[in-house]
Amino acid sequence: MMLEKLIILPALTISTSNFLTIAVLMIFFSSMILNFALYLMLVVMLALFTPQKKISRLRLFFYSLVFTPVIGFIAYRRSLPSYVIHLKRFYCKRCKVYFTEPLHECPLCTKDGVVSRLVTVDMESV
Ligand SMILES: [Zn+2]
Repeated sequence: MMLEKLIILPALTISTSNFLTIAVLMIFFSSMILNFALYLMLVVMLALFTPQKKISRLRLFFYSLVFTPVIGFIAYRRSLPSYVIHLKRFYCKRCKVYFTEPLHECPLCTKDGVVSRLVTVDMESV
């Protein structure tokens, strides 16, 4: 009986003195896990938005995971919509006509006997 008390009592005193520390640590780590879960949820939610934008899902996921979802959101906002098409047109300044074929001189102006060089124009269309 005396031996039992000697063994158990020190163990009990240690656990009761550290109980608060253990509780605080448990709360800290559980909140950390909760915060990480929330962070990951934000990252995944941001990555799910991408079909409407030109930025790829993987890139946005990477940006928001590494540089926080705030940076990911900025990257998402700055990205162009996915439905924007880039077109290349060849414009004649003299007759103000856009050509789709890559020509160097305007065929309409050459008919009139005037050599007019075409200017390459980049267009964005929805
Ligand atoms: Zn022309």
